[in-house]
Amino acid sequence: MDPIVIILLVSFLFGTIGFFIGDSRGYAAVGGLLGSIFGPLGIIVITSMVLATPTYLCPYCGGGIKSRQVQRCRHCGSPLGMFGNDPS
Ligand SMILES: [Zn+2]
Repeated sequence: MDPIVIILLVSFLFGTIGFFIGDSRGYAAVGGLLGSIFGPLGIIVITSMVLATPTYLCPYCGGGIKSRQVQRCRHCGSPLGMFGNDPS
């Protein structure tokens, strides 16, 4: 197999992993970018970013919300107000 194909596949694989790790805190694009460019190192970076960011869960769909200050869930669009849960 051509080395460039392997590089692209590995880049895509780590980009996908980074995307899903980052997605839980709204860093999907950042995580995908970090993973595809830096590979395992990018995964470590996005994981520490995710762990450093407190999150709240939407009471309607269970999706992660970055801050209690947001008015509507970005996943399901439900109005949130005071219903945010504590970070787990
Ligand atoms: Zn929701």
